[in-house]
Amino acid sequence: MTFLNKDILVTGGTGLVGSACKRIMPEARYISSKEVDLRSLKQTESFVEKCSPGVILHLAGRVGGLKANSEFLGDFFDDNILINTHVLQSAKKYNVKKVISFLSTCIFPDQAAYPLKESYLHSGEPHESNFAYAYAKRMIEVQSRAYFQQHGLEYQCLVPTNIYGPNDNFNLEDGHVAPSLIHKCYLAKQNNTDFNVWGSGKPLREFIYSDDIARLSEWALRNYHEKEPLILSTSEEVSIKELVLVIADAVGFKGKIVFDATKPDGQYRKPTDNSKLLELRPNFKFTPLEEGIEKSVNWFIENYETCRK
Ligand code: GDP
Repeated sequence: MTFLNKDILVTGGTGLVGSACKRIMPEARYISSKEVDLRSLKQTESFVEKCSPGVILHLAGRVGGLKANSEFLGDFFDDNILINTHVLQSAKKYNVKKVISFLSTCIFPDQAAYPLKESYLHSGEPHESNFAYAYAKRMIEVQSRAYFQQHGLEYQCLVPTNIYGPNDNFNLEDGHVAPSLIHKCYLAKQNNTDFNVWGSGKPLREFIYSDDIARLSEWALRNYHEKEPLILSTSEEVSIKELVLVIADAVGFKGKIVFDATKPDGQYRKPTDNSKLLELRPNFKFTPLEEGIEKSVNWFIENYETCRK
């Protein structure tokens, strides 16, 4: 199928990935929860009918850090299961031939073998701290695959690792590690204090810049035709300590860095296998961490007053 970028509808348009997509494909139509409450089937259906998109990139969902996730288990389940069911049902009803939805590696089985492969998604219980979110999100994959098989609709899922970039949530307590540490380092420089990092600095993560995700999403909308999910990652593990040094460099922080061992490290590592992506996009150039962090830091400083934090 062929379509123009203006025929793409992006849900979750104001989030981290949504705003990156706006930079990469500005012609698409972006909606946020302010415009349409996707938890309402009526609102979702009438919006999809009116908008009549060629394809949908479905990014919207209720997201939050570990704390919010484990405190509001029921709300996370309800909102995510409703949003996904409504978006996919409405898309089917109004004959949208392709919908790509976003999952996350944090919904994979807690005891999975490493590196994580696409096929492991349902092969065990998620971590108990976010089981409600995880199961609700896993159901998009089930719903997409069921529609794919029964109705011949190209409904699929992409699975990114730790995304960072402009427009992230820079909250000191609830943010993910990269934006939280950018904020902390910035404050430490401003106030001439130590830069406090949670945990030992030893855990490993795979970071991917939001614009890379947007570019890969645009490519997948046109070129990915398989029923199975696709992991989007660099498969390059970086320790929290390495990340901290890159951030300190970008911020220009010269003070003392303190690793607070009383704070949890979380999972030591959760590496992914990106061989399927590399087979399909052997020449894709991932943004180097130094460059992505520098852009994120600059954006944060320029938008300090208004950004999510
Ligand atoms: P995860 O990848 O889902 O575990 O989530 P995070 O993005 O929150 O990364 C957590 C890792 O970064 C853990 O090893 C934390 O100990 C470490 N970390 C260090 N400082 C911070 C911080 O200020 N905020 C967060 N969220 N994590 C931090």
